[in-house]
Amino acid sequence: DRPPRFDRKFVHIGDGDGAPSSVIRVMQWNILAQALGEGLDNFVMCPLEALSWSRRKYLIMEEVLTYRPHIVCMQEVDHYYDTLQPVLAGLGYSSHFCPKPWSPCLGVEGNNGPDGCALFYDESRFELLDSVNIRLSAMRIPTNQVAIVTTLRCRITGKCVCVAVTHLKARSGWEWLRSTQGSDLLWHLQNVVQKQPGDPAADIPLLICGDFNAVPNEEVYRRFATSPFGLDSAYKKLSRDGLTEPEYTTWKIRPTGECCSTLDYIWYTKDTLRVDAVLDMPTEEEIGPNRLPSFSYPSDHLSLVCDFSFKEEEWEGN
Ligand code: NDP
Ligand code: CA
Repeated sequence: DRPPRFDRKFVHIGDGDGAPSSVIRVMQWNILAQALGEGLDNFVMCPLEALSWSRRKYLIMEEVLTYRPHIVCMQEVDHYYDTLQPVLAGLGYSSHFCPKPWSPCLGVEGNNGPDGCALFYDESRFELLDSVNIRLSAMRIPTNQVAIVTTLRCRITGKCVCVAVTHLKARSGWEWLRSTQGSDLLWHLQNVVQKQPGDPAADIPLLICGDFNAVPNEEVYRRFATSPFGLDSAYKKLSRDGLTEPEYTTWKIRPTGECCSTLDYIWYTKDTLRVDAVLDMPTEEEIGPNRLPSFSYPSDHLSLVCDFSFKEEEWEGN
């Protein structure tokens, strides 16, 4: 007695010559904090029953189980200890959680604790080398936004990858803060990935997943697109020209109106990683007139799922 799941397909990119055994599937998803969805968001076209945790938790788990990513990066997690951590541990995922220092969830009656970022990885595929929780700063002043930076070693190839998850400050008027928080994250990543200063060939590939709360023409987007890491945004591969972000990663209706925008990204190091496949977005028709969340989909943000593989080292001269 519920509407069907979105029927999303993987779009394969390029020649597809990557050995399938070494594909790394990554999911980026702002799952919508339970306390915010029920308490502060005001999704006026979404029935309250569709927002209940007893329904949403199954849809969230179903999304992860449908695609079975090796790495899952989530924002707005306020049911880590009681649900996501234990359930995903039972499916073979190890994880880290970083709560927001002053989560808006705490202001909601009956809240389940602070929301934050969470990073899950398939323990059979990756070995943990290091993980740090970071509170993002702006001009040395600590902010309410956080990130997790985890370094993993692939058990198949022996190669390392550094994965970061973040959720930047929301709302218009805060573009400068998002940009400064983004710079701070890039600064932290610099110290993690640079094995040998000045030798970019030795650097560990990066995967940065986030709800940046920024549309593609914002400064923070430009900062990532032009950073010295040589990052690219994976979902551009879905577009016909390969240069354009999707039309939306979130679509909701609040009393102030409809909000359809691209705020979520998976950044990757283009010299060392290749995008093999990207999960397409549901159509406007599939999303439906009341938009998100809904009985079909538990969050106002869509999941982003990509398959990556390590590019083979190119041997040049001697
Ligand atoms: P942000 O501006 O980053 O937003 C926090 C959350 O609100 C995000 O998850 C965001 O979702 C969501 N959001 C964005 N736009 C709207 C909207 N129009 N309506 C409802 N929700 C929205 O906030 P901070 O993390 O900087 O938290 C500070 C806020 O939390 C302050 O307003 C503070 O007063 C409040 N707070 C209150 C507490 C209390 O006890 N009363 C305790 C702690 C915080 P998305 O990213 O998906 O857009
Ligand atoms: Ca939200």
